[in-house]
Amino acid sequence: MAIRRILTVDNSADLAILKQVSKDVPAVDDALRALMDDMLETMYDAPGIGLAAVQVGELVNVIVMDLAREGEEPAPRYFVNPKITWESEELFSYEEGCLSVPEVYDAVERPARVKLTYLDYNGQPVEEEAEGLFAVCIQHEMDHLKGVLFIDHLSRLKRDRAITKVKKARRAA
Ligand code: ZN
Repeated sequence: MAIRRILTVDNSADLAILKQVSKDVPAVDDALRALMDDMLETMYDAPGIGLAAVQVGELVNVIVMDLAREGEEPAPRYFVNPKITWESEELFSYEEGCLSVPEVYDAVERPARVKLTYLDYNGQPVEEEAEGLFAVCIQHEMDHLKGVLFIDHLSRLKRDRAITKVKKARRAA
């Protein structure tokens, strides 16, 4: 396993990759599992609760996540070729952050519940309903697969301010 560099929006070359649309993978094989292992290690190291493959520069529809709270056993989850098949009309607003937009947090409103299908770490098909933080996180990560960042849901003014804030934080670091 290896920790990969996380692409961030303050770097224009990184941003150009983050804006691209990822593709489905043909199969869950050992090479893909190695990528998922790297992604999980990178996410834990950051630390974060979710990471899409594009955030480490791989344009494939793969997400890792761990929503276990501090002090709980780690609960890694893997989503390959995820598809949302249903979303609730009811909305839920949550203060989101992103490893590719460090230091910036803002409220985004999304469907409160979604149903999704995906392949797991072993390539087995799964169908599942998500709510609460899981629903927020899976929608945030699936946006990444479409080249969409959470700040794209904000007003243009707030988005520009967010990118300026990331650049300043990076310079100070
Ligand atoms: Zn993100």
